[in-house]
Amino acid sequence: MIEKVVIANRGEIALRIVRACQALGIRTVAVHSTVDRNLKHVAMADESVCIGPGPSAESYLNMPRIIAAAEVTDAQAIHPGYGFLSENADFAERVEQSGFVFIGPRPETIRLMGDKVEAIRAMKAAGVPCVPGSGGPLGDDIVTNTKIAREIGYPVIIKASGGGGGRGMRVVHAEGALKSAIETTKSEAKAAFGNGEVYMEKYLENPRHVEIQVLADGQGNAIHLGERDCSMQRRHQKVVEEAPAPGISEELRAEIGKVCVDACIRIGYRGAGTFEFLFEDGRFYFIEMNTRIQVEHPVTEMVTGIDLVAEQLRIACGQKLSIKQSDVVLSGHAIECRINAEDPESFMPHPGTITAFHPPGGPGVRVDTHIYAGYKVPPNYDSMIGKLIVHGPDRETAIARMRVALNETVIEGIKSNIPLQQRIMRDVGFQAGGQNIHYLEKRLAERKTKSIALT
Ligand code: ADP
Repeated sequence: MIEKVVIANRGEIALRIVRACQALGIRTVAVHSTVDRNLKHVAMADESVCIGPGPSAESYLNMPRIIAAAEVTDAQAIHPGYGFLSENADFAERVEQSGFVFIGPRPETIRLMGDKVEAIRAMKAAGVPCVPGSGGPLGDDIVTNTKIAREIGYPVIIKASGGGGGRGMRVVHAEGALKSAIETTKSEAKAAFGNGEVYMEKYLENPRHVEIQVLADGQGNAIHLGERDCSMQRRHQKVVEEAPAPGISEELRAEIGKVCVDACIRIGYRGAGTFEFLFEDGRFYFIEMNTRIQVEHPVTEMVTGIDLVAEQLRIACGQKLSIKQSDVVLSGHAIECRINAEDPESFMPHPGTITAFHPPGGPGVRVDTHIYAGYKVPPNYDSMIGKLIVHGPDRETAIARMRVALNETVIEGIKSNIPLQQRIMRDVGFQAGGQNIHYLEKRLAERKTKSIALT
C-alpha cells in the first residue's frame, strides 16, 4: 500500500495531485524550489521539502534531491506530474532502484516511447495506424533518401527521433530541398537532444489533433476513455482542448479505442497514457504516445466522471482496474481553456504579483489553478497559471458556459491570455467545430492584417 506520496512537480498539477491523494487518504510531500515556497499545494501538503533554487535544473530536474526527499520523509511513491521528469526513463528507473514506486509506466515503456522511431515500430507491430514513413532512421545516402521520399510522396516531414515539444522537425515540399533539410535536422537534433537520428513521414497538410486517453493496470487489463480534440494550437502548443472531438462517431471511437487498448495490453502498459494521432479525412495516424498524465486530462474526467489521478494512484498501489470498458459512458461535452500569464497580443510571458483573483463558478465550471490574490508568478517556469474547464449537456452549452466563465474571471496585476480565449469562444469557425491544427494561427495572422478577424 502507498501511504505517502512525493509530488515531484509544481503549480496546478501538483495541487491536483495533492487533492486526489487527500481524497484517498494518502499523505503528501511537496518538494519545491526556493522561489516556490508560497505555492498553494506546499501549504496543503502534509510535509514539504525545499529541493533547491529556482532554476529547474537545480530543483525540479534534480533527481538525487527528489529521491532524497522521499527517503527523509519515509514516502513510498513519487508522482512526477507532467513535464519536468515525468517522461524521463532514467528517473523512473532510479526511483524504482531506490525502492520507491514510480507513479507511471515501467521505465522500459517510457524509454520505448521516448524514441519515436522505436515507438512507431512498436505501434505498427501492435496494429496502430501510423503516418506513412521511412519506418526507421534515415542514413546519409541521398539516393536512398530520395527514393524513400518519392515513395511517400511530397510534402514530407523530417523529424528527430529524440525530439519533443514540437522541436526538431522540418517540412520538405520538393526534392531539391531534401538533402539539406535532412542534414540540418540531423545536426540540430544532435545539438538539442544529443541524438542525431532522424526519420521521414508524409506531411499531412490539414490534420486535426485527436488523442485517445487510456488506463492500464499492467496486469493485462486496459480501457480507453474516449478522445480529446486539441487542434487549437499555437506553435504546436495546445491552447484549447475538448472532449469528445466534434464529428467522431461512436463506431469510429470504439474502433480506434480498441486499437489503443490492444496495443496497451501488448506492450504491458501500466498507468494513464495518451495515444496522440493526427486525424485527416476520417482516418487516424499515430504520431506519439505520452506516458504521463496530460494537462488536458480534466475534459476527459468531466465527460466520463472518472478521476484519472485517483486511478493512477490505485494502479500504482498494484490494484487491478476496477472500471470495465462498458462502465465508460461519455456524457455531454467539456472544454478546457489554458490560462497563461502572458500578453494576449504578443504572447510574451508576463510574470508578476497577482493583486486580485476572482475565479468563476456556476453549473459545470471547474477551475484548476494554484494562483491566489497576493501570489507572485515567478519568471522561472512555464507561463500556464491555471485551467478553466466547463462541462455542459452539449457543445453549444459548453461554449456558452465557457464564455460566461471567462467573462466572470478577474485576474489583476499581471496580463493573461483570457482576451484571446474570449475571442476563440466567439469565433464562428471554432463554434462550428472540427477545425484543423493550423486554424488558430491562420486566424491570428489574419487578425494582424485585418482587424476584423477573431474579434
Ligand atoms: P513533439 O513530441 O515534438 O510534440 P509530435 O510528433 O507530437 O512531436 O508532433 C508535434 C506536432 O507537429 C503535431 O501536433 C503536428 O502539429 C506536427 N506534425 C508532426 N508530424 C506531422 C506530420 N506527419 N504531418 C503534419 N504535421 C505533423
